Amino acid sequence: MSTPSPKLIKGQTGDWEVVIGMEVHAQVLSKSKLFSGASTAFGAEPNAQVSFIDAGMPGMLPVINEKCVEQAVRTGLGLKAKINHWSIFDRKNYFYPDLPQGYQISQYKNPIVGEGEVTIDLKDGESRVVGIERLHLEQDAGKSLHDQHPDSSYVDLNRSGIALMEIVTKPDMRSSEEAAAFLRKLRAIVRYLGTCDGNMDEGSMRADVNVSVRKPGGPLGTRCEIKNVNSMRFIAQAVEYEARRQIEIIEGGGAIRQETRLFDSRQGETRSMRSKEEAHDYRYFPDPDLLPLELDPAWVDGIAASLPELPDEKKTRFMGLGLSAYDASVLVAERELADYYEELAGGVDAKAAANWLNNEILGRLNRDGLSIAQVPVSAAANNAIVAMIADKTISGKIAKDLLDIVWSEGGDPRAVVEARGLRQVTDTGAIDAAIEAVIAGNPEKVEEVKAKPKLAAWFVGQVMKQTGGKANPAAVNAALKLRLGLPDEG
Ligand code: ADP
Ligand code: MG
Repeated sequence: MSTPSPKLIKGQTGDWEVVIGMEVHAQVLSKSKLFSGASTAFGAEPNAQVSFIDAGMPGMLPVINEKCVEQAVRTGLGLKAKINHWSIFDRKNYFYPDLPQGYQISQYKNPIVGEGEVTIDLKDGESRVVGIERLHLEQDAGKSLHDQHPDSSYVDLNRSGIALMEIVTKPDMRSSEEAAAFLRKLRAIVRYLGTCDGNMDEGSMRADVNVSVRKPGGPLGTRCEIKNVNSMRFIAQAVEYEARRQIEIIEGGGAIRQETRLFDSRQGETRSMRSKEEAHDYRYFPDPDLLPLELDPAWVDGIAASLPELPDEKKTRFMGLGLSAYDASVLVAERELADYYEELAGGVDAKAAANWLNNEILGRLNRDGLSIAQVPVSAAANNAIVAMIADKTISGKIAKDLLDIVWSEGGDPRAVVEARGLRQVTDTGAIDAAIEAVIAGNPEKVEEVKAKPKLAAWFVGQVMKQTGGKANPAAVNAALKLRLGLPDEG
């Protein structure tokens, strides 16, 4: 594993390095909210899932949801992070119409999870370790709706009180690609763990991206924070735009003001929301309604023992089977894909199975706009196809046709091979007959090939055509060379 040198951006005064740190909000997968029993299901009618606690009614007391705590610990373990057995819930005070309590319950000085790390996979087999600063639990706010009525705003409190994990990285990323790769990897990890569905379209994962620039190896520059970027593509665009903007300001003799900006995906640019001077003073203090959260070490150990095999470990195992770093990282990106691969590769060559999956299956899924969960041909059926190529029952060419047949019509590949007579012809009698037919039909080419042995490939193609693509190409090659008296240069 090697770490890439930072990608440099050319300015008028020389090269610049971009520095990125992220704060990701990941919605905890749980049936009910962090401190109430209201449902977290997505897509309900507005205000259908709001308890008295979520509505900020006076005198209501929050009760911690054990499942949410377990999910935070599980995520921390998946990030190879320190689990803090003692943590505190604080009130973060501010006023906003979608925050009926008048404060958000969050964790400030003493979060449930401390330092950890995530390894991101980059192209050419390079990787980078991104430090995790902390993970804390907090409540989500509601949602203001400004487009429902000409002169009123509405508020939907369904999200109010849903548990979020805020995951904060160290400023360890050095390009827009790395920032997108980090979020992709984090998403894969929480999905493997089953602690967040990673659904960015539904807002289950949102990233605040901190960007600064500096001369290579120099001291860190002043950062700007870009709020709520909700796709990998937008993250990359926002970083690129913001880095250029900062370089232009500094090279023009100006200075970067620390501020919060938003990314306008339609214009592809970031715009100022508020400066540091306008930043809120949240007046954090420990929530008097909640005791410190103390975790039993044995309970934490139990969660650790139940972790699934995570993408990095799976990747290492796949590489041990003979796959390249690139192939392995493609396959482990989604747990469903990795599981599908393992079933497909059972008893056949690991590399052949990976190639078949990457080229043939993923190619067709992409063409049809389907996900791996919607694949029309089972892993077991593909395993049979790959096995038939390996034992020379069918040629590679026929295998692709066979996949097309079962892809659109269904059926058992072995039965289809028998029913449609797709078996590869290794019978030399049939191959010789086809060769004679081609020679008889093309006397001028027979003369030419003596001077131009490269033309042999043309003959192979014709013979394959004659046999409906079912002849074994190696057998055809050998028989042709013999018949035409060509040198055997391999
Ligand atoms: P604050 O306490 O003001 O929230 P933090 O130190 O917690 O600041 O950092 C918040 C986020 O900003 C983290 O993800 C961190 O990695 C990132 N960050 C901090 N300094 C820089 C910098 N100079 N350039 C880019 N990102 C930074
Ligand atoms: Mg911070």
